[in-house]
Amino acid sequence: NTGESTASRSGVAVKAGTPEWEENIEYFIKKKLRVWCRPANGKWELGTIVSTSGEEATVSILSGNIFRVSTWELLPANPDILCGVDDLLQLSYLNEPSVIYNLHYRFSRDIIYSKAGPLLIAVNPFKKVQIYEDNLVQAYKQKTMDNPHVYALANTAYNEMMRDEVSQSIIISGESGAGKTETARFAMHYLASVGGGSSAGIESNVLCTNSILEAFGNAKTSRNANSSRFGKFTEIYFSVSGKICGAKVQTFFLEKSRVVQVTQGERSYHIFYQLCAGAPSYLREKLNLRNACEYYYLKQSSCLLIEGVNDAERFRILLEALDIVRIPKVYQENAFEVLAAILWLGNISFHTGDFENHAEVVVDEAVTTVARLLGCTTEDLMVALSTRKIKVGKDHITKTLTLQQAFDVRDALAKFLYASLFDWVVEQINISLEVGKESAGRSINILDICGFESFQRNSFEQFCINYANERLQQHFHRHLFKLEQEEYETDGIYWTKVDFEDNQDCLNLIEKRPLGILSLGDTDVAFTIRHYAGEVSYDSTSFLQKNRDLVHVDSIQLLSSCSCQLPKLFAARTDDHSLGLSNPNHSGGGLDFQKQSVAAKLKGQLFKLMHQLENTKPHFIRCIRPNEKQLPCHFEEDLVLQQLRCCGIIEVVQISRSGYPSRMTHQEFAERYGFMLFDSASVSKDPLSISVALLHHFNVPPETYQVGYMKIYLRMGQVALLESRRKQAL
Ligand code: ADP
Ligand code: MG
Repeated sequence: NTGESTASRSGVAVKAGTPEWEENIEYFIKKKLRVWCRPANGKWELGTIVSTSGEEATVSILSGNIFRVSTWELLPANPDILCGVDDLLQLSYLNEPSVIYNLHYRFSRDIIYSKAGPLLIAVNPFKKVQIYEDNLVQAYKQKTMDNPHVYALANTAYNEMMRDEVSQSIIISGESGAGKTETARFAMHYLASVGGGSSAGIESNVLCTNSILEAFGNAKTSRNANSSRFGKFTEIYFSVSGKICGAKVQTFFLEKSRVVQVTQGERSYHIFYQLCAGAPSYLREKLNLRNACEYYYLKQSSCLLIEGVNDAERFRILLEALDIVRIPKVYQENAFEVLAAILWLGNISFHTGDFENHAEVVVDEAVTTVARLLGCTTEDLMVALSTRKIKVGKDHITKTLTLQQAFDVRDALAKFLYASLFDWVVEQINISLEVGKESAGRSINILDICGFESFQRNSFEQFCINYANERLQQHFHRHLFKLEQEEYETDGIYWTKVDFEDNQDCLNLIEKRPLGILSLGDTDVAFTIRHYAGEVSYDSTSFLQKNRDLVHVDSIQLLSSCSCQLPKLFAARTDDHSLGLSNPNHSGGGLDFQKQSVAAKLKGQLFKLMHQLENTKPHFIRCIRPNEKQLPCHFEEDLVLQQLRCCGIIEVVQISRSGYPSRMTHQEFAERYGFMLFDSASVSKDPLSISVALLHHFNVPPETYQVGYMKIYLRMGQVALLESRRKQAL
């Protein structure tokens, strides 16, 4: 029966051009089965083979047109019965057009979630879909529904945490605008719902932190009107009884440059516009607050509003959230002072004084307001912004800055203040969510981090994001591939290694001294890295400057002399990881405050994160952006395919299919099915012998299982067959 053999060989994707496929072609022609072909425009089309001659095939596509294509370019299509399956692993043929077709088929029916074996795929619908209602939370909780859904995944994580007493992680990745943050929010919503009801009602605080962090860390970009400009790792702690008892947030690489520089059509952080639009009159007066259009940092991009978003209303919601997580009013106002100071800093201008190219601060409302908001004198502020101290021998002399230097110092100060404020807000949130003492220390962690990026121009920011993704990719590989293969090997079963590229070399290239990219030194070179997801050429202009992230010593000293709480605190913090003011770094003829480099700090953070992830059971979600215009009902196949390749979905599907997805210890196997042996007396009582006897008894085809020392490994579908026999026997 040719049909059988096609089906059984299809355990692994059959590659076009291989002997298997040659044989299959005959079969496909005979049965008039559908194939994928790519006529002229490069798009995959479904068709049937009419005839073949030599290496050419005549194919009739659905529109009725007939094409001649090379047989090497044909791929088998799946039978109708497999149209729109929940899990891509169920497909008989796992080629790219089949995978895309399946996702597209589901997407056009508003089924946005699918599985690829252990991965959950979420395709952003860019519209409201009725799949998140409270009754559905209950349905997934009670398992009356178990189709692919973020609720189902969160439910599995919760149940496994409770059952195995092991912390879990939900790792969400994808491009900007793919739906990571929304997905994370739905996961949290679900967990708050199943783990809620603790006396403190802490679960609503956990949800509140989202809106606070979004105000401070999200902005409108060309790809997403609510784009998170930082990575976020949220640990949600549960008590022994499964109730949420606290949480902790860690953040990564906030995009600081956005505070001082905004691309046309984009915005700075939401909080600035919210404050300008929504501050009550007493606060406006206190902060000398104007409309957003009067601040240079905000108006430079000619984009002040987001369609359908009311910033004043959002500010009111933010104030409520700040109250709910119990950030004291005084602290809230301190934070607003810093924000207003940053906005006014951007309005400070310079002119050249008596000496050519020596910057002098223009004395106006901007500089006096900044001084008042920070709590220093206008004179001190002007000196800090227009001069720097230089060490000559044992003495310090004062040097006037050029115009460009003065603007840089101003912007560096604004960025420093904002980044410090952001860290401080995260800290306040963590204090308020701190885990109660009774906690059992089990947690479900949610990682929402920007995926791999490759643009026309790639700078330090892309480098950091892609570096983080290399690390995450390695974690993913480790989990899915290495552990998988190691298990087969230690259990002594035969297993053909599936080729996959380990990205350790790339990580070494980035991290290892002395040759790692991070220690390239001052050589101004452009370079290309072959990342797991593709090659990226980086433009190294301002790379090192961004990596050093310098703030003037003079600026730090100014802040430490301020009478306001937060600026002083921010200045004091710099001692933690600095070389100290007594050991300044000489660069550009002045004193710079040298912190740990951004990349070195990131590396430290990532190592810590990886360590945290290693100790948990991971659950992966890949978010997909179906089109670039953020429109509903638009599915651009090429764009999706590119993302599927970047996040390894195709690879995962093939690995899982070629392996043995079901496995049980001999003990478990014998206990579950042993009773079906008619003559159990004739086999010895050890579980391994019973397992083997069972396999023989039911004529399980030898190519569909492997017997290891500890476990029995079964191909896809075999457990279902055994289960149905068991049901009959019961
Ligand atoms: P990312 O964090 O990956 O950059 P977001 O989670 O912010 O992307 O999603 C971008 C936008 O897409 C959201 O503002 C929302 O309009 C839409 N979106 C994302 N996921 C969903 C979803 N599950 N249902 C409806 N709309 C969604
Ligand atoms: Mg986001």
